[in-house]
Amino acid sequence: MQDREARVVIVGAGFGGLTAAKTLAKAGVPFVLIDRRNHHLFQPLLYQVATAALAPADIAVPIRAVLSPGRQKSHIEILMDEVTGIDRTARTISTQGGATIPFSHLILATGSDYAYFGNEDRWAPHAPALKSLDDALNIRRRVLLAFERAETTSNVALRQRLMTFVVIGGGPTGVETAGALAELARATLARDFSNIDPRTARVVLVEALDTLLNAYPRRLGAYTRKKLEQMGVEVITGRPVEDITTDGVLLEDRSILTANVFWCAGVKATPVGEWLGVETERNGAVRVGPDLRLEDDPHIFVIGDASSVDDESGDPLPALAPVAKQQGRYAAETIIAEARNHPAPDPFRYRDWGTMATIGRAAAVGKFGKLEVTGFPAWLLWGAVHVAYLVGFRNRLSVMLNWLWAWVSYAKGSRLITGPDEAAIDALDSGRAVEAELDKTVTNLEER
Ligand SMILES: Cc1cc2nc3c(=O)[nH]c(=O)nc-3n(C[C@H](O)[C@H](O)[C@H](O)COP(=O)(O)OP(=O)(O)OC[C@H]3O[C@@H](n4cnc5c(N)ncnc54)[C@H](O)[C@@H]3O)c2cc1C
Repeated sequence: MQDREARVVIVGAGFGGLTAAKTLAKAGVPFVLIDRRNHHLFQPLLYQVATAALAPADIAVPIRAVLSPGRQKSHIEILMDEVTGIDRTARTISTQGGATIPFSHLILATGSDYAYFGNEDRWAPHAPALKSLDDALNIRRRVLLAFERAETTSNVALRQRLMTFVVIGGGPTGVETAGALAELARATLARDFSNIDPRTARVVLVEALDTLLNAYPRRLGAYTRKKLEQMGVEVITGRPVEDITTDGVLLEDRSILTANVFWCAGVKATPVGEWLGVETERNGAVRVGPDLRLEDDPHIFVIGDASSVDDESGDPLPALAPVAKQQGRYAAETIIAEARNHPAPDPFRYRDWGTMATIGRAAAVGKFGKLEVTGFPAWLLWGAVHVAYLVGFRNRLSVMLNWLWAWVSYAKGSRLITGPDEAAIDALDSGRAVEAELDKTVTNLEER
């Protein structure tokens, strides 16, 4: 590994890194692509895996299958490894697997992680977040196990706790997850149990700010709230979470007893700033110039969620898939221009085609410049855009067929409880212990 020739190195095969890789491959520029996972993940549909609507393979594709290094004319290398540091003087990156890889240019596209506002250790074990396929499968398991446990217990309080689902964060992911959970309970599972009525499940969406979908116009946030409430979701806004424990969620004015809390709030960038030894924004993102490079090193690009760059009006660009994709293409085109002795492209400019969020199976909201769309037409558009953005024909076809089937039948085909999950089993299988503790817990929470 030490004798490697310095090449373009891309870290991360998400939206930004994979787009950069495809652009370089097309131009015949050799590169090394490193990702800790072997697949590219379409995160916008993760909530559908978590709520049993889609299977993991529908929204992920092996990186090697996308780039097929063996079939490319230019030299492409794909490494499955985790980057742990960068030596800017030696111009190398180091990995968990012990490799030291030299780079001529570096594109850092490692995305973001969830942040629990400084309460990672205490809250994360009780409130899993949705970032990877494993996270989605863990949440799916917890949700389905909760109904199974509720079916087998005769303790009414425990049953209520098991059938209460709290989603924290009223951004697009929280809204989509809460809507999908309500549909799962009220439609898909409605007639599947003998001792419980899944339609009585309580789905609560908690947002610290006063409105939902804060990046959208207020009208769309209000519309979203109304739609969710019509679907049976209890929406609580203006209430930051004060604590999350095994018993449930504590807000300023109330506590919610639940065995199921899902975290969809707060994001922080991956530790790229630490690796580079540069100052970062409060969310950990690395500030880059308008050409997406470090100001003191034109050979290092930081793109996507890991970076911070302003739009023309001086506001930071949002952490969205299209931003990362456009930045990936721009970084690669800059490198290609340099390799061909062409002038560098003009500064990066984000072309905003609009943003959308879905609310269940028949409504969505979208903002396209000044145009705001809601309802079923918005939902159709949301579906078309997401299918078009998926990588791979198989995935597009599979997602379309799944959605069509779910639409006509209300069925969700991926309702399988698989894999050992100590956390879920600890939380749910300790039914008897919980029953004994329950009265004490209720009293404690009421006293607080
Ligand atoms: C649940 C969810 C829903 C979302 N919904 C939407 C939506 O509807 N619309 C939208 O536009 N955006 C949405 N987003 C945001 C969007 O997914 C991100 O903005 C986008 O993925 C950022 O792209 P990226 O290339 O910067 O990072 P990512 O796509 O996250 O890719 C980062 C890659 O880097 C790899 N990586 C990380 N650290 C290392 C390391 N140390 N070593 C090696 N590899 C590493 C990861 O494995 C990953 O493959 C959503 C995000 C989430 C989590």
